[in-house]
Amino acid sequence: MDSNDSAHVIVVGGGYGGITVAKALDDVADVTVIEPRDTFVHHVAALRAVVDPDWIERIFLPYDHLLTRGRFVRDRAVRVDGTRVELASGGTLGGAHVVVATGVGYPYPAKIDGTDRAAAQARLRATHDELAAADRVLLLGAGPVGLEFAGEIAAAWPTKEVIVADPSPALLPGRYPEEFRAEVHRQLDELGVRLLLGTTVAQPPTSPGRAGRFSVAGVDADIWFRCHGTGPRTSLPVDAYLRVRDRPGQWAVGDVTDVPELKMARLAQAHAEVVAANIRTLLTKGAWTEDDLTTHEPAPDMLVLPLGPKGGAGYGPGFGLLGAAQTAEAKGADLFLGYYRALLNLD
Ligand SMILES: Cc1cc2nc3c(=O)[nH]c(=O)nc-3n(C[C@H](O)[C@H](O)[C@H](O)COP(=O)(O)OP(=O)(O)OC[C@H]3O[C@@H](n4cnc5c(N)ncnc54)[C@H](O)[C@@H]3O)c2cc1C
Repeated sequence: MDSNDSAHVIVVGGGYGGITVAKALDDVADVTVIEPRDTFVHHVAALRAVVDPDWIERIFLPYDHLLTRGRFVRDRAVRVDGTRVELASGGTLGGAHVVVATGVGYPYPAKIDGTDRAAAQARLRATHDELAAADRVLLLGAGPVGLEFAGEIAAAWPTKEVIVADPSPALLPGRYPEEFRAEVHRQLDELGVRLLLGTTVAQPPTSPGRAGRFSVAGVDADIWFRCHGTGPRTSLPVDAYLRVRDRPGQWAVGDVTDVPELKMARLAQAHAEVVAANIRTLLTKGAWTEDDLTTHEPAPDMLVLPLGPKGGAGYGPGFGLLGAAQTAEAKGADLFLGYYRALLNLD
């Protein structure tokens, strides 16, 4: 489809930000979502799915019920030029507004590669089996992904030796009070996770996520995972209304933006609400000024970190420190799956 219809909105990427903006505009706009995956992937629960195969089915959620009027096009955008989007399949789509919501890559298994649900599930099962057979696991990176994964593994298999190494002397980058880090540290100790902070461990000779015994920098292990770094990333400069600077008609939400705050699903969704409100205003108000538009203020650092289904800690300026029981209640058991099923109109 190639339409310059004034109400045609193209959303590039069907992750947390993309589905939220698409749903919010479905009643007022003609929405097209371009997404190469065949289902939504609830990546917030990806690490749980590696240790608990029951979750391998659960985290893949169909897009079919999200939109009443709009549609998904299973394709990849290769170029966004103003409000025209070139597709990997060769076609071009044009709209009045384009919302870029393509996120960033994380190393597998935090982000599940591939666009086909069945293949992704098979890979997760294979990783689960290799991890289950390993006695000693090395995780490189003591950020939220490395620590959450350590907590999941230690809670599921208490006899495994789990080692987390990071060149930084402190765990968890971010502006948090020391008592939050101390609580995370305490629970990791309780779970028997060994932390090697301030230690640079060279990349092991085996492939990440594949079984194979190795020894690096005095650490012996049977499997390792890369839990740091994000993939190639285009950081789109946006203004306070989340318009991409110098590109009229283009908006951006979520991890792909240069908003100076943590990269979080809940913030991608907050951006999506702002962009949806602004596009709605432009589509429905004959005359408008910037005073009619909504802005996004960068959010302070806040993190709720599960360490297995029953543990974890959280900190946010609004609620202070959360302990294991509160974290498990807020997030640990369900990992927001129910919320995203409802957003995708699945229940
Ligand atoms: C293990 C883990 C746990 C996390 N836990 C939390 C948490 O508890 N709470 C929280 O708030 N955040 C959490 N996050 C962060 C959260 O997952 C990200 O901030 C969130 O995914 C960002 O949403 P997004 O919409 O910007 O991008 P994404 O969700 O990454 O979506 C981007 C979408 O764009 C698609 N895409 C990419 N390129 C193209 C293209 N060229 N054309 C078309 N489509 C494309 C992708 O296939 C994908 O579906 C976690 C992340 C990880 C890895």
